[in-house]
Amino acid sequence: MEYDFPLFRPPSEARSLIFQVTLGCSWNRCLFCASYRTKEFRVRPFEEVERDIVGMSECYPSARRVFLADGDPVAAPTDYLVRVLDLINRRFPSLERISTYAGPTNLMAKTREELEQLKERKLDLLYLGIETGNDELLKRVGKGATAGQIVDGGRKALQAGLRVSAFIILGLGGMEGSHDHAKDSARVVNGIDPQYLATLTLIPLPDARIYEERVMGHGFRLIDPAQSLQELRWFVEDLELTGCKFGTEHASNYLPITGMTLPRDKDEILRRIDKALTDVSPGTLRPEWMRGL
Ligand code: SF4
Repeated sequence: MEYDFPLFRPPSEARSLIFQVTLGCSWNRCLFCASYRTKEFRVRPFEEVERDIVGMSECYPSARRVFLADGDPVAAPTDYLVRVLDLINRRFPSLERISTYAGPTNLMAKTREELEQLKERKLDLLYLGIETGNDELLKRVGKGATAGQIVDGGRKALQAGLRVSAFIILGLGGMEGSHDHAKDSARVVNGIDPQYLATLTLIPLPDARIYEERVMGHGFRLIDPAQSLQELRWFVEDLELTGCKFGTEHASNYLPITGMTLPRDKDEILRRIDKALTDVSPGTLRPEWMRGL
C-alpha cells in the first residue's frame, strides 16, 4: 500500500493502521495550518480504499485499531463511509475502535442518525480541532466555524455515542489576545465536555517574522514561553469538566504534563504550571529546538 504524503495522525494513533479515505482537508484555509497546502481535497474512490484495506488485512489480520486519514474524512458522504467501515469491520475481526479527525462544520452537516450509523460500525473517537473558542480569533485565522458551531458539532458527536478528543492551540491569539483566547476556549471546551483534551502550541510557519507580519499582520506578536504558561493557567483554571483525560505532552508545548484527569487533578496541573512560571532553571521547559509538530 502506498500513502499519499504528507500524512498526519495524532500521537496516540502511533499503533493504528492508517487508511486514507480522503486526501487533504476540505476546508484547507486556516492561516496557522500548512498541513495539507500541497493537496487538493478529494474523497478517494471506494475501489482504491478497498484495495488498501484488503491488502493490509492480509498482512495484519489481527489489527485492533484503525485511524482514517487525511484531514477530515467526516466530510465524505455517509453512505460511502458506511461502506468503508463495513469493509474494515469484515476484514479485521479483532477490531476494537476506529478513529479520525473531524471538523466542526462537517459534524454539523451530518445528522445525529448518520453519526449513529458510523458509531454502530466502530467509529468511536473523533479528534476535534477547536483551536480557540474566541469568535473574533476564529474569524481572523479563517477557521470557518463559530464557537457556537464548534460546541454544537462536538455535542452532536457525543450525543451519537462517539467520544471526542479536543484540542486547542496555545498562542493562537498572540500576546494581545492571550487572555480572551484562553478564557473563551475554556468556555467552549466546557460546553462540549469531551473525554480527552490536549493543548498544542502554535509553531508559526514558515517562520515567526513572516507569520507575525504577513500572515496575521495588524501588530500581531507571538507569545513567548512564559506567556504560553500563563495562557495555559488561564485556560485550565476555568475548565469545568466531568471526566476528561488531559495532557500537554504534544511536542509543540513548552511544558509537558501527562496522565492527568479532570476535574480530579486540576489543582496538581495548576501547581505544576505555577512552579514552571517561577522556576527558570534549565530543563523546566522543553527547549525551542526540541519543539515540533
Ligand atoms: S480544518 Fe484543520 S486540517 Fe483543515 S486547514 Fe484548518 S486546521 Fe488545517
